[in-house]
Amino acid sequence: MTTKLVFATPNPHKIQEIKDIAGNSDIEFLLPPETFDPIENGSTFEENSYIKAKEAARLSGFMALADDSGLCVEALDGAPGIYSARYANTPQERIDKLLANMRGKENRNAKFVCAMTLVSPDGKIIFQTRGECHGKIAEKQAGTNGFGYDPIFLIGDGKTTIAELSEEEKNKISHRGKALRDVLEFLVKNK
Ligand code: IMP
Repeated sequence: MTTKLVFATPNPHKIQEIKDIAGNSDIEFLLPPETFDPIENGSTFEENSYIKAKEAARLSGFMALADDSGLCVEALDGAPGIYSARYANTPQERIDKLLANMRGKENRNAKFVCAMTLVSPDGKIIFQTRGECHGKIAEKQAGTNGFGYDPIFLIGDGKTTIAELSEEEKNKISHRGKALRDVLEFLVKNK
């Protein structure tokens, strides 16, 4: 039987990634109602993903899954972290600001984090997990795939940014891919 759940995000890139990762897993992802506009005032990725999932479940009456994700940079004490989406006004301004703040820094270690929370229609946490993808902040941006900070996030050998990977390659190693595979495993085991 198909499992229906609301994926609580208005971000079309994230929805596409989630659908690609879930493949033919017998899960139908529904969009949250248009009135979905939760106040993300938690202090961790986990708390914010719970706030979003709970609100989507309340509005829709379905089981809901939400992610909260961001980029944590060691040399910036974990910034932009949970404020990644609000670091500056546009995606390009966010990249420019981060590169400016990293100018001259030797330690370029960074990680993408994705917390996912699955809640029942009455808003109780059913499952929560976190995926991480470790890499380094590039000196300059490269690549046009993906979204957000992908053009300045170097993976593996330090020569390739995530924005230079195909969607399939990104999904294999991404924080969101790892977290979603945990959720799918949980859903299959507990059907
Ligand atoms: P959220 O929608 O509140 O989870 O905000 C996440 C923000 O973190 C996004 O707007 C991006 O700026 C950044 N981010 C999260 N995941 C990714 C990713 O896979 N690639 C690049 N940037 C990401």
